[in-house]
Amino acid sequence: MRLKKGLGQHLLISGGVVEKIVSELEPEGLDVVEIGGGTGYLTRELLKKGPRSLTVIEIDPRMAERLQTIGDPRLRVLEADATSFDLCTVGESLILCGNLPYNVWAGIIERVIICHPCVERGVFMLQKETALKLTGKEKPGWLGIFFRTYFDAVYLMSVPARFFVPKPKVSSGVVRFSKKHAEGVPSELKKYKEFLTSLFTSPRKMLRKKFPQELLAQAGIEGTRRAEELSLEEILRLYNVYGGA
Ligand code: SAH
Repeated sequence: MRLKKGLGQHLLISGGVVEKIVSELEPEGLDVVEIGGGTGYLTRELLKKGPRSLTVIEIDPRMAERLQTIGDPRLRVLEADATSFDLCTVGESLILCGNLPYNVWAGIIERVIICHPCVERGVFMLQKETALKLTGKEKPGWLGIFFRTYFDAVYLMSVPARFFVPKPKVSSGVVRFSKKHAEGVPSELKKYKEFLTSLFTSPRKMLRKKFPQELLAQAGIEGTRRAEELSLEEILRLYNVYGGA
């Protein structure tokens, strides 16, 4: 089958990496959703680990057809776009997995955040730089902060480009995440996202140029600080005095 670059089709060919992903996921007896099934290497390994169900979301009809041929009663293949798919239609406490297509990772991560009430945890392979941002190992942008508001995320390992066919230009990284069950996370996602995107519009600008001094003082943040230097806790404090919650 000809692989489509535009759909981010870089297939994993390392048994060791696939094994690591499924063992970190611990899908036994649970409802699993795989995003971007491709030719089904990861899909087959997931099925071996005894999930209660496995739903694969795959946009490419040729791949979806091929995945159907695995023919396992626990497997359901949905030909759909993961950036707009409502995960909560699959189950209430989902375990997510996937070697994500790099061109649409941001849309998929945003989708996972929006659907967080029905997502428990997961393991994703992403572009290394993105994986570092999502786990707070590198300066995050608004999406990294948005993600870490709802999920704890750890960077598991880097995966060199030679473990994929065709070889991507960049290295990859594996991230494990689990939902925070903390009180006080922003419940109005649209409003919180707007706050974050505007906060990060010019991340190096001093905050006193963006917010009234009084508001910053109330949040206990110096006006000379910049958005990119703030911790998640400080951002949440600022959001709360700004009128969120
Ligand atoms: N899991 C496989 C394939 C990973 S490549 C493996 O590890 O080998 C990424 C896959 O995501 C491709 O099969 C591609 O067709 C699919 N994909 C790309 N964009 C998508 C989208 N918006 N929604 C769902 N799947 C998508």
